[in-house]
Amino acid sequence: MDDSLRELPERAKEKYIENKKFFAKLKKRPPKNLDYVMQELHDAEFERTDCLECANCCKTTGPLFTNADIERIAKHFRLKPQRFIETYLRLDEENDYVLQEVPCAFLGADNHCAIYDVRPKACREFPHTDRKKFHQISHLTLKNVVICPAAFRIVEEMKKRVGVK
Ligand code: SF4
Ligand code: SF4
Repeated sequence: MDDSLRELPERAKEKYIENKKFFAKLKKRPPKNLDYVMQELHDAEFERTDCLECANCCKTTGPLFTNADIERIAKHFRLKPQRFIETYLRLDEENDYVLQEVPCAFLGADNHCAIYDVRPKACREFPHTDRKKFHQISHLTLKNVVICPAAFRIVEEMKKRVGVK
């Protein structure tokens, strides 16, 4: 693990109050061009970030699995959905299917995902920084900046670009 990844939880903790205040203000009066700005910030960040050098999301949290995800991935393995669930998943406190353990069983030693083409929707969309109406998922973003260096940097840039009063 490189130093920046090791230091990320501490850096995110230092920014927690500031970020929380920022998102609270943003929610009250989101700028009209927010979707556009977020797409720009997201694209710029992922131009320079190589997820294959990180994979911290796959190593530390893992996604929720929807029914559609389970059906698709089970089919990929030629397994019955129930068998796939028994082998890899468990229900969490909110009754969502999540990985039995992390790092994710499908993560290779080279950080490649063994089920990349059929991976869960939540993996495809993580860290959700190009999501429309980004201010509506601030509770999730406050958690994601602790594990995802790209999300951390995007939020830092966002605070410079998006004025809140
Ligand atoms: S999405 Fe974030 S945490 Fe996941 S591999 Fe990419 S930079 Fe790392
Ligand atoms: S399914 Fe693939 S992308 Fe999703 S957490 Fe596992 S290794 Fe990562």
